[in-house]
Amino acid sequence: MTDVFMLLGAPNKTAVQSKMENVILFETELANITTPQEDRRDERKMYHKMTLANLIRDYPRSTLCAHALPRILNDYMLWHLVGDFASLLSKPFREAKQKFHEILTGTKGNEDAWYTCISDTDSVLGFAVGALFVEETFKGGSKEKAKEMIENVRTAFTDNLPNLDWMDDATRAAALDKANAVTDMIGYPNYILDHAKLDKKYEDLKINKSDYFNNNLAYTQYIFKKSYEKLRKTPLNEWAMSPPTVNAYYTPSKNTIVFPAGILQAPFYDQNFPKSLNYGAMGVVMGHELTHGFDDQGREYDKYGNMKSWWGADAVKKFKQKSQCMIDQYNNFELHGEHERGKQTLGENIADNGGLKSAYNVWCWNSKPESDHMQILTDPHSPPKFRVIGTLSNSEDFNKEFKCKSSAKMNPKKKCEIW
Ligand SMILES: [Zn+2]
Repeated sequence: MTDVFMLLGAPNKTAVQSKMENVILFETELANITTPQEDRRDERKMYHKMTLANLIRDYPRSTLCAHALPRILNDYMLWHLVGDFASLLSKPFREAKQKFHEILTGTKGNEDAWYTCISDTDSVLGFAVGALFVEETFKGGSKEKAKEMIENVRTAFTDNLPNLDWMDDATRAAALDKANAVTDMIGYPNYILDHAKLDKKYEDLKINKSDYFNNNLAYTQYIFKKSYEKLRKTPLNEWAMSPPTVNAYYTPSKNTIVFPAGILQAPFYDQNFPKSLNYGAMGVVMGHELTHGFDDQGREYDKYGNMKSWWGADAVKKFKQKSQCMIDQYNNFELHGEHERGKQTLGENIADNGGLKSAYNVWCWNSKPESDHMQILTDPHSPPKFRVIGTLSNSEDFNKEFKCKSSAKMNPKKKCEIW
């Protein structure tokens, strides 16, 4: 932090250092009064709709800001502004920022030119790059094939609902209704193949071939403007990920699952792969996203995406008991002597377990201790190793297929299962 300000021409290193120490102390205080990560999954604790007038009345100035010196608040804001833009500057700035990153995560981050060029272009012009990408890679009925797999995974999920002895019939009917109402977005948004529409999307963004820093400023302004344009308008089914992205997501407020073209490729999916491989990889991802609609967060939303309870009281009680089994199980997993956080990762673990089960029924990670620690602190997903051990040790099908002994570690007596 000090290095960045010295590069900007600060006259006195000791003075900068003490300012930055105060910034860290201030940030630590902020972190301590922030709702802990594991409680942030509780929508009812996080969502407080209020008018602007009530916000100003109830929170005129937060206690912390009221007692922090204006000087510290000023340094805090300055660091965030400068720190965010330092990695877009010349090499000495980038190296200073890299040092900071390395202390936090244990890795230097990828500074290779090809990586920076590709990831920056994808994050700024992802739908234009995506149009080229899908023209090249997403053909031969890929969308239809993905759709068919989703339907098979959905059927496996709904077929299992009658087997859930912890659920009353009314809640079960509502769960079936919600599962059938889940909409999907596959591959890419159609407008990207229409050049006029694509040009229209980016018409306010001015990119200059030789001005990397100002291009980034222009993009920041562009994205702010686009966000403000959405204010008080009906939300559209926009894509939160670009077509080449190797990832997928579920949006509870729309009850929609989304699979960009990037993940509908090998090693996740290939039309020449045997079904076992396609369902073992892509099918599990599809089941994972579908099950998010029924995890501790997703279950709070109805089939229309409104935060509204559709559960019987007894089913909620039993869901919470079953969830506690999974919280306790994942709390017991240890990485570098640190326990993973079962409550924080509950939604992802429910989705991993439900996803694996649904995908199986259709068909009868270079880490450093610092980044692992960071993941345990902040990531809603369990560390990759436990995403495998957790789901498979809960799977009766896995144990049966691999003939695990009753004493085997992957076949614990106490298994957790929700969906
Ligand atoms: Zn997930």
